[in-house]
Amino acid sequence: MIFRRTTGSFLRRLIIFCLTVMLLGCSVLGSAVCVQAAPDSESRAVIVLDPGHTAVMSGGTEPVGPGSKEMKAKDTSGTRGVSSGMREYELTLLICFKLTNELRRRGYKVVLTRDRHDLSLSCIERAQIANNAQADAFIRVHADGSESRSARGAMTICTTSRSPYCPQLYPESRRLSDCVLGSYCSVTGAKNRGVWETDTMTGNNWAMVPTTLIEMGFMTNPEEDLLMASEDYQELIVQGIADGIDAFFAAGVL
Ligand SMILES: [Zn+2]
Repeated sequence: MIFRRTTGSFLRRLIIFCLTVMLLGCSVLGSAVCVQAAPDSESRAVIVLDPGHTAVMSGGTEPVGPGSKEMKAKDTSGTRGVSSGMREYELTLLICFKLTNELRRRGYKVVLTRDRHDLSLSCIERAQIANNAQADAFIRVHADGSESRSARGAMTICTTSRSPYCPQLYPESRRLSDCVLGSYCSVTGAKNRGVWETDTMTGNNWAMVPTTLIEMGFMTNPEEDLLMASEDYQELIVQGIADGIDAFFAAGVL
């Protein structure tokens, strides 16, 4: 009898143990399937891409940040490729179109601040598009220019921890800037010029979401200009920025 009771109790425990393992297994499997199969657009991160400059410049000035008395031009003409002849606004839109396809392929929701050249758009308006979309990341895409033809390399720009406009965004904007620049430089091989923290960029100051501005390279450097104008290198640019966005969200989840 004692033996039977012990055996019965052992069997009961074994059955309970097996059922628990099965239930746990199912729930883990279930949640994994849920994550993969979730078709709802609600749960997808929203990326707002801002192709720098445009063919139709906004005239006039606007406050450099919310509540600021300091005024800056609503837009500038941007730079131009010394070898390719390409305008900065052409390159930035081309890259943003390709980046849109890649990010959508990776499951992100993407909103563009502009999808054509003949649209005048001030820096505040660009930021407001990101704010209205409640962007999880606002990526501003630019190329650099310099009087020195030897200047080359990439950098990202974010607001500072002492920003009078959006200090609470500093940790995330800095992390986004680090992720995007790190991936970009490792994939493209571009020289890493570091993250520039400044509160002088109107489009960054008005954004109330994690924001970075990437300067992809110098269009005034003959070699870097030709690289950025080539399709092969553009694929690397897109890969680098998209990997940086992935890294930003992967680390954010942890
Ligand atoms: Zn620019």
